[in-house]
Amino acid sequence: MRPLDTRVVVIGAGPAGLSAALALAERGFTDVTVLEKEATVGGKCHSLHVDGHAIDLGANLTTPRYHETRALAERLGMTLRKIRDRRIVNLSNEQFESLADANLLERLVVRGGASVYAGMRHLTGIDRDGYANLRDAVEQPFERWLDHHGLGAFKELFEVLFVAYGYGAMLELPAAYALKFFDPVHLEASVDTVLGKDVPFTMDFEEGFQELWERVDARLPRPTLRSADIASVSRSPRGVDVRWTDASGQHDERFDALILACPLQVTPGFLDTSADEARLFSKIRTNDYYVTVARTRGLPDMSTYVYPYARRLTPGWPTVFYPPVGRSDSGEGDLFVFYAYGGEGVDEGVVRQRIRETLAHPDLGGEVTEFVHTQHWRYFPHVDSEAMRAGFYDELEAMQGVFHTYYVGELLSFTLVELNHRYAKQLVERHFVK
Ligand SMILES: Cc1cc2nc3c(=O)[nH]c(=O)nc-3n(C[C@H](O)[C@H](O)[C@H](O)COP(=O)(O)OP(=O)(O)OC[C@H]3O[C@@H](n4cnc5c(N)ncnc54)[C@H](O)[C@@H]3O)c2cc1C
Repeated sequence: MRPLDTRVVVIGAGPAGLSAALALAERGFTDVTVLEKEATVGGKCHSLHVDGHAIDLGANLTTPRYHETRALAERLGMTLRKIRDRRIVNLSNEQFESLADANLLERLVVRGGASVYAGMRHLTGIDRDGYANLRDAVEQPFERWLDHHGLGAFKELFEVLFVAYGYGAMLELPAAYALKFFDPVHLEASVDTVLGKDVPFTMDFEEGFQELWERVDARLPRPTLRSADIASVSRSPRGVDVRWTDASGQHDERFDALILACPLQVTPGFLDTSADEARLFSKIRTNDYYVTVARTRGLPDMSTYVYPYARRLTPGWPTVFYPPVGRSDSGEGDLFVFYAYGGEGVDEGVVRQRIRETLAHPDLGGEVTEFVHTQHWRYFPHVDSEAMRAGFYDELEAMQGVFHTYYVGELLSFTLVELNHRYAKQLVERHFVK
């Protein structure tokens, strides 16, 4: 166990960094400094406040799998609510193909295939936190893994879900990512959703997801230092020297341990990166993703999956849109959130134009009256099959603690808040408490 007066610096106040800081505080560590570049905490749990409503621009959903996040939220007085009903709209220029055959799919996937999937998935060891020491060649592309296990019939379904959720070409990425995301309960509920059933499965927070992390921050012995511009982090046998500036001036402080909870690919901008770190971090890829909030008229009070664009990765076109706060009495100026991929030649203007064009389709029949905000994210950090096969995660995990440095966050534990929270907590248990 490290002494309770260990001086720890955490860089990044997203779910991973704040979960690490909270776990340290709960274990009695009193000298923890969290540095955050933005003026807010929560990272990609980021909410926009419009007309007195909190609208999530990043993470919004929790599922029954979110045991720890929901328990934490309950302790902090957050309000969970059921999200809106859903529909799938097939613009008339596309065919639903086999997905239209709901009964067949239900029989095939939910009753039969899902249990095979669950068994195979369990054998890989994927339910442990992180990605080290997994079995069953999960570094191979997910579509190959499915074929290998006779689950090729799942591909079309998975592709729709991946594209709709923002994971893009996940069939071509290491199976480990898809397996992390789809636990058997989530798979069944997602299938039901795709089939148009109303499943009381996903819930969001009335106060917005960011507020959860603002409340966590307020409980830390020392709240996050915000708008911190980190100039340098240098590590030596004596400790970790950090130089940063914030509203109160320039600071130079020495710490005993460093927890990197910001995107690792940005750290070479300030960190004395080792050759191994530089090599590993250069392998990280992300998805380009746009979230747009707009006032609209004429749309029903439902989440809508625009099937052609949710089925195949189509940069710039809205895959899904939903009304985060429900319809106004008049139906005028209703707020909707739209999700679209970025890509070559796509920017905020293109995304907005394509939202307009999509809503003008006769099957949708709505219109935008005003764009409120467009947020551009680098979503879902990951590596490709080659990097994973070459031992990316085994190496990164073996580096935990080297140069007084620890790594947490979505790259290490997948792009889901519950998994980021759990991983950070476990890291504290493994490396600071035991
Ligand atoms: C559109 C979208 C929808 C999502 N939907 C869901 C969902 O429904 N459910 C779910 O569970 N998850 C969802 N996620 C994923 C979830 O938001 C992430 O998994 C989670 O936020 C990752 O936490 P993190 O702490 O690892 O990283 P982040 O949230 O990215 O936090 C990293 C922090 O580091 C800070 N930082 C960066 N650089 C520096 C620097 N130089 N110095 C100091 N600080 C720095 C950032 O400002 C940020 O605050 C979604 C994400 C997006 C973008």
